[in-house]
Amino acid sequence: MITTELSKITELIHKQREFFQTGKTKDIGFRLEKLRTLKQAIVENETAIAQALQADFHKPDFESYATEISVTKEIDYAIKHLHSWAKPQKAEVPIEFFSYSAKIYAEPLGVVLIIGPWNYPFNLIIAPLVGAIAAGNCSILKPSEIAPATSSLLAQMMAKYCEPEFITVVEGGVEASQKLLAEKFDHIFFTGGTAVGKIVMEAAAKHLTPVTLELGGKSPCIVDADINLEHTIRRITWGKFINAGQTCVAPDYLLVDKKIKPDLINGLKKSITEFYGDNPQNSSDYARIISQKHCERLIKLLDKGEIVVGGESQLEERYIAPTIIDQVSLTDPVMQEEIFGPILPVIEYTDIKEAIALINSKPKPLALYLFSQNKNLQQRVLQETSSGGVCLNDTVLHVGVSSLPFGGVGDSGIGNYHGKAGFDTFSHHKSVLRNSFWLDLKWRYAPYQGKLAFLKRLIGS
Ligand code: NAD
Repeated sequence: MITTELSKITELIHKQREFFQTGKTKDIGFRLEKLRTLKQAIVENETAIAQALQADFHKPDFESYATEISVTKEIDYAIKHLHSWAKPQKAEVPIEFFSYSAKIYAEPLGVVLIIGPWNYPFNLIIAPLVGAIAAGNCSILKPSEIAPATSSLLAQMMAKYCEPEFITVVEGGVEASQKLLAEKFDHIFFTGGTAVGKIVMEAAAKHLTPVTLELGGKSPCIVDADINLEHTIRRITWGKFINAGQTCVAPDYLLVDKKIKPDLINGLKKSITEFYGDNPQNSSDYARIISQKHCERLIKLLDKGEIVVGGESQLEERYIAPTIIDQVSLTDPVMQEEIFGPILPVIEYTDIKEAIALINSKPKPLALYLFSQNKNLQQRVLQETSSGGVCLNDTVLHVGVSSLPFGGVGDSGIGNYHGKAGFDTFSHHKSVLRNSFWLDLKWRYAPYQGKLAFLKRLIGS
């Protein structure tokens, strides 16, 4: 659906509601079939997906496969586990409820809205959709208008492979998003920036619609001296500069033990050349910034501190070299906002407590990275900081493990998904207590005279 047809949004939601009411989506067989169709749609359109991502931001094919098309793994995981997730779960009952049984039933919510960002424009629409389908919901998808080729491809694919009363795409920008948000949904799943997240939550509140907000923030990366330097360097270079740093869980800034800072910076410099050659602008393995507006914003961040690697940019080409900035002050703009680009500020510490204090002085991040072989230090950082997720001795990869719920905390988000967490996010867990007729003890019924002492004994007061 394109922007000119936005007037049809109410009708579209109505049709999805009608379809949901038929009860078809409650059938596990139906959900499995739709998950298989979704996978088939992706497999059959692999080349088109990679081309759209290439058109939107020069995303290297390898990265498109590794981070977007690989969302099929999430589908496989859901297909494998759906029966066990959807099975009513037995719950314990207290001894005084001996004639009862308890179960928790997962039931679909209804019609859900999924709004996506531009940075992984395919994956971040499809991955939540997997949870929504697995849980038995109808879905309206609103991809980001800032990645127009991918948005348009998603619309074509869904129109070809899915009935619009089950899944449909509404294309467009803020206007489309706001028109959708004015409607009542049974859940809104939003991935994007914190500022827009607040707008989404406010709109949802008007209808008492529950939300999942997958937001961003500044994800710190601590580098202790007790490491394998070579491995650390490669893993940081990869996690930071994949997709030209436009990754919600990219290491935003480094907190480095002063003792190893010179070696680390030298190593990062070498690995950037190893990955992207002497001039990354000529590398087909290095993406571009999504828009001139974002490129301008990033170029401004280069003004402060000492650029020790990179720093070159070309606005017309939306190119910014992989850049490392030393001598950064906490009041510099680069430390005040989520960078979301290929710029890596380095801050040194002499005692880990300084690094922990800095992290805790900022809003809770989406991801936290620690490179250290020291188990006590790992434990201390886990215990003394809070973040959506943590990856020890690596970057970004925790997001690719379907059994780990993925989401933020505090300013970095509300709720989570992937694997069973995605299924749960799009399900209502209905508690059901069942009694039978073989016994009916009268102690709870009026008249209460003479029964209080027994009640007190029963509840243990
Ligand atoms: P964004 O918040 O600008 O846009 C996200 C979506 O919201 C788009 O579909 C857009 O059309 C819509 N939108 C924009 N303005 C709106 C408004 N005023 N009212 C209603 N809808 C509106 O985010 P973005 O720039 O596309 O993505 C970058 C942000 O997303 C970063 O902060 C990043 O960290 C975050 N992000 C988070 C995750 C995660 O999984 N937690 C993943 C990717 C990106």
